[in-house]
Amino acid sequence: MNKSRLSRRAFSAVVAGAGAATTLNAKQKATKEITQASVPGDPAAPAPQTGTLPEVTPFAGELVFTRRIVAPRVNPFRRTEVQLLPSAFKDAQEANRAVLNDLPADRLLHSFRVNAGLPSSSQPLGGWEKLDCELRGHFAGHFLSGCALMYSSTGDKELKAKGDYMVAELAKCQQRLGGGYLSAFPLELFDRLKARKEVWAPFYTVHKIMAGMLDMYQECDNHQALDVLKGMAGWTDTWTASMPEEHMQSVLDTEYGGMNEVLYNLAAVTGDDRFAAVGDRFTKKRFFNPLALRRDELRGLHTNTHIPQVIGAARRYEISGDQRFHDVADYFWHEVTGTRTYVTGGTSNNEGWLVEPNRLAAELSRGTSTNECCCAYNMLKLTRSLYTWTADPRYFDYYERTLYNHRLGTINTRTGATQYYLSIVPGAWRTFNSRYDSFWCCTGTGVEEYSKLNDSIYFHDEDGIYVNLFIPSEVKWAQKNLRIRQETSFPQMASTRLLIDADEPIRTAIHIRIPAWASSAPTVKINGRASEISASPGSYLTVVSTWKTGDSIELDLPMHLYIESMPDDRAMQAILYGPLVLAGELGGTDLTPELVIGHMGPDLKKHPADGVPSLRVSDSAIESAVKPGDRGLTFRTVGQKADVSLVPFHTISGQRYAVYWNVS
Ligand SMILES: [Zn+2]
Repeated sequence: MNKSRLSRRAFSAVVAGAGAATTLNAKQKATKEITQASVPGDPAAPAPQTGTLPEVTPFAGELVFTRRIVAPRVNPFRRTEVQLLPSAFKDAQEANRAVLNDLPADRLLHSFRVNAGLPSSSQPLGGWEKLDCELRGHFAGHFLSGCALMYSSTGDKELKAKGDYMVAELAKCQQRLGGGYLSAFPLELFDRLKARKEVWAPFYTVHKIMAGMLDMYQECDNHQALDVLKGMAGWTDTWTASMPEEHMQSVLDTEYGGMNEVLYNLAAVTGDDRFAAVGDRFTKKRFFNPLALRRDELRGLHTNTHIPQVIGAARRYEISGDQRFHDVADYFWHEVTGTRTYVTGGTSNNEGWLVEPNRLAAELSRGTSTNECCCAYNMLKLTRSLYTWTADPRYFDYYERTLYNHRLGTINTRTGATQYYLSIVPGAWRTFNSRYDSFWCCTGTGVEEYSKLNDSIYFHDEDGIYVNLFIPSEVKWAQKNLRIRQETSFPQMASTRLLIDADEPIRTAIHIRIPAWASSAPTVKINGRASEISASPGSYLTVVSTWKTGDSIELDLPMHLYIESMPDDRAMQAILYGPLVLAGELGGTDLTPELVIGHMGPDLKKHPADGVPSLRVSDSAIESAVKPGDRGLTFRTVGQKADVSLVPFHTISGQRYAVYWNVS
């Protein structure tokens, strides 16, 4: 999130300092050489463009929406059909549930009531929900989504009731404001947006409220929420239609979240194409055109402003079949995950893409504010969409990497507090929001993330079920009267076990993802007996059988130590074990709560650490410098000047750490 006017300037300065003024004229653009290579092993990687590009502009002139639903290759299960069993993921879900239960609805509603001229005696909230913050109300939208998703994930009726109450009260505010516009700030901010005067991000905020209403309708069957949403969409139609297209394109320079996505979703659930046409007005053509031509012109862009727009493009493709939108989403995903993503699965530094692709060491050197959590949240969401188009298991290599190494550790399971930046500069430490005085963008995406940890473990098509993640859970496949319980202590144990429960014997396929990180083909046991069935890493292992209650599949997923180097500095390496990034424990006796709570990231200027730690490897094998420790997934360096312990990154908290090492 562009934090403030001040930091927006700071962001621009950083970009300018990096020499990022990519202001090629049209002719230069048209003849730009593309040298970007696809990353080997990426799913369905598009062939890179080479040579001189044609002088075409994929998004030119007026967009016309024609409905044509593209059938997905696989479908997700409903959240009500998948339950988490005890695990670190369940702990994260429960910590988040406690936060949602704790936050008082009337305090969240206060700024809306004040704006609508309705009485409110609640104590105002702090941080980005403060009465003078131009983003106020954004968190109420995330909160509605959080309640809705948590209700469908866990059946928590208190949260549904809280969400229903907020929808009803927000509907009163909307009525008072004329029946369409709904926000916690006055229309004057939209006047400034239209006049291209300084303003933070009004549509970004409105998008959160609209998405919250849609989730309350879809997950909690709240029809009043759909009415409120339609009113907001109608107001958006009028506002965006009141100016020439060219001017609207200039408005799109101000962060607007996923306005296109929520309007396409509304068109999909109502069958009313008018909403899709309004969504089309949020097509930022300057951003989409190079992507559709498979050109990386991302340098200098604010990262989390743009990922949600691509999620919108993916949705547009799904409901129209328009290949241009497919190409935007497909190329963007491959480019960002392949060339602009750190080992943890996160992307961005100082909230932007500061350098050219494949220059991650250079990017890391430009600041400590790496890996904004919203970016990881949105990239996971985009990955999930793209996966349903092809059912290519390799999408889940990225998904799993990001889930374990970015998202799992960015919630404090004791307090439910979440992070803003996940800094990976050496000597950094984790920092978290405070309960009532932060309400950052990432606090918002956080309450959504940890409400839907059950949503991508399993998918299905007509003929079978796909097991993509090794998270203890139970899935009920109602259509087939089949239930599968996944019992595992993965990643502590490199194995998983699926137990079948069926009303009557049923013939179906069970596809289990074999991760690309697996060091060899897995060994498989069916009903306790060794099986010949196998599959190579990066594919699905498929077992077709007539399943009955008591049947089981057991699978070993062999892990090994390996390294990943920075593309622009081969000596700068991270150490991994299976899907897990290992981080060095650097101690943290100086880290008082004042340095941890209420900060977006660690202040390494005031509280510096030593530089990138070094690791001497004698025979180019990582095993010569890192040995297994005495418990679980711990490791220890050997033969170094000062040896340190390494543990899975997501488990480190309360101390400084190292993710990248200088390896000699
Ligand atoms: Zn954020």
